[in-house]
This record gives sequence, structure tokens and C-alpha cells, in this order.
Amino acid sequence: MVEALDVRKSFGAHEVLKGINLTIRKGEVVCLLGPSGSGKSTFLRCINHLERMSGGRILVDGHLIGYNERHGLLYEMSGKELARQRQDIGMVFQRFNLFAHHDVLTNISQAPMLIRGQSREQAFARARELLKLVDLEGREDAYPYQLSGGQQQRVAIARALAMNPKLMLFDEPTSALDPELVGEVLAVMRKLAADGMTMLVVTHELAFAREVADRVIFMDQGVVVEEGPAQQVIDSPQHERTKTFLRRMH
Ligand code: ATP
Ligand code: MG
Repeated sequence: MVEALDVRKSFGAHEVLKGINLTIRKGEVVCLLGPSGSGKSTFLRCINHLERMSGGRILVDGHLIGYNERHGLLYEMSGKELARQRQDIGMVFQRFNLFAHHDVLTNISQAPMLIRGQSREQAFARARELLKLVDLEGREDAYPYQLSGGQQQRVAIARALAMNPKLMLFDEPTSALDPELVGEVLAVMRKLAADGMTMLVVTHELAFAREVADRVIFMDQGVVVEEGPAQQVIDSPQHERTKTFLRRMH
């Protein structure tokens, strides 16, 4: 589903990603761990071309992200093509990025109507279904400010799912939440994983990663230091840098 080949990214002289190679199979849940500044968010943003890579390539579902290839050369794709490509990739950030002036139902159903061309009835019905999935049945009329952080984040997940993405990217979806609200968001993610969604999750929730991830990747200073089955990487890391990082997290 995702194939990253030698992905590089520099901001000026600062090389943030130094050749990331990574494959995620359909239905796989991969957790990405690493210290602050290691390039996790930058890498995630490269996957839907929110960042322009300095080198390498990323394929999602067999399609080259952000570029068209002609005669071996890469040409940046048009905004329209990129928008179409992004429809297949759901993204949930640390900060709930709901539309503050729209109620929950509108937040979830707007893009499917405007972009996917769904009818109001269709989009609303699907939104209600998704609200059930994220355990917010009956809250369609609420505005974001009337919801807790955990509830807002669950609406953000429902909104991403409304586009029927093939892949979901999560960038520390629980790290801005009060501790007692973390569990309800992880529960929704656990459900998605069990339903077979392909997911790449940047997280510091080791218990979640150990339980839900098929694979864990540890990144530091723009390189993949270690990767393997979740339990192996978390419980018996091989590299000194992984050990040090995990020791600090416990
Ligand atoms: P955190 O755990 O704190 O979220 P991260 O692993 O997600 O960290 P990134 O946000 O990807 O790290 O940042 C990696 C490096 O790239 C950092 O040194 C950061 O300062 C730098 N960086 C990120 N975005 C930009 C930007 N737009 N311009 C310049 N430097 C940037
Ligand atoms: Mg980050």
C-alpha cells in the first residue's frame, strides 16, 4: 500500500530525512516512534505531498505521490491531480483541525458532498454511521467547542474516514489530550485496525503500539534505526539509540 524509496528532505542545509525506505502492506498497522525532531511528522507529510521531497519517491497503492513520470523524469503534478490523490489518504493530526463554525454532521459530510459528489442524504447517512463507529451517536448537531478534546479527535477520525481512504496517517493523535481522554481515541483506532484499515501511526503510546501495531519503526535523526514486530522492537530493542529512547519513555 505504501512504498517509500530513499525519501530525502532538507530544509535549507538541514537534512531532516536522510533516505527513508519503508513498505507498508495493505491492512498493516505500522507505528512510527522516535525522539522529537527525528523527522516523523516530516515523513508523514511527504506521504501526501504536504512537504515536497528533496529526493526519492513514495508510492501509495501503486501510484507515485505528487509527481507524474514521463520518460524517466518526474514532473510535479497539478493541484487538481494532487487533490484527487489526497482523497485516498486520510490524515489526523495532533491538534483537532475541525471547522469550528460547522456542526459535527457538516464537518464529516462536507468533503464527501463537495469533492466526492455524494448526495446530501448519502453523505449524512454515512456520517451518522461513522459517528456510531467513533462512539458519538446522536452528537451530529454539536459544534466543536461543545465537545471534549477526545470527542473532537474522534470526529476528526470520522471526517477522514468519510472519504473512504485507502490509508490513514495519524500524527500523535492523542498527545494533545488530557490523559483520561487518550483511551477513547485509541479505542477507535484499535477498531479501525481490527477492521483492516492500513495505518501509519506516529505515537508515543507504547502499550498501544505493542498491542495493535504489526510492525514498529524507530527513527532517529532522519534515518530508520530499527524496525520489526512490535513486541520485538519495544521489548527487546537491538540498537543502543532505540534502547535509550525507550528507557526514557517508561
Ligand atoms: P516531534 O516528535 O517533536 O513532533 P518530529 O519527529 O515529528 O518531532 P519533525 O517535525 O519532522 O520532527 O521535524 C524534524 C526536523 O525538521 C526538526 O529539526 C524541525 O525543526 C525541522 N523542520 C520541520 N519542518 C520544518 C520547516 N517547515 N522548516 C524548517 N525546518 C523544519
Ligand atoms: Mg511531529
